[in-house]
Amino acid sequence: MKMQDIPPRILDIPIRPMGLFVRIITLGWASAITLRPWGIFMKQEKTLRKDILIDILEHEIGHWFQQTLLGYLFYIFYFFEWLIKIFIYWKGAYKNLSFEREARDKRGDWEYWINRKPFATVKYL
Ligand SMILES: [Zn+2]
Repeated sequence: MKMQDIPPRILDIPIRPMGLFVRIITLGWASAITLRPWGIFMKQEKTLRKDILIDILEHEIGHWFQQTLLGYLFYIFYFFEWLIKIFIYWKGAYKNLSFEREARDKRGDWEYWINRKPFATVKYL
């Protein structure tokens, strides 16, 4: 499935520059963050190569789908999983969050995202 086959209402995602608040909550190191319903926030300083930009956006759109199904529960689960995994992985905690594993594993797999069930992330715990 190509990106243009995704129903437009799903991809109607605002792409915004990171403001101060977003930089604070990402501790300044993330190049992008998805905060539905507000949008995908991107760091502006870097001039990114187009293929890298597409990689980042495809990853973030995965988070958009996760958040679409879970709503604000996403933030609660994400935060608590991070709190637990920081004890197991320390600096690797972020990489090992189930939402991040799923977003990496299924990046650009629109067929998967459109048909995904709300708690599909559990497989990636
Ligand atoms: Zn991510």
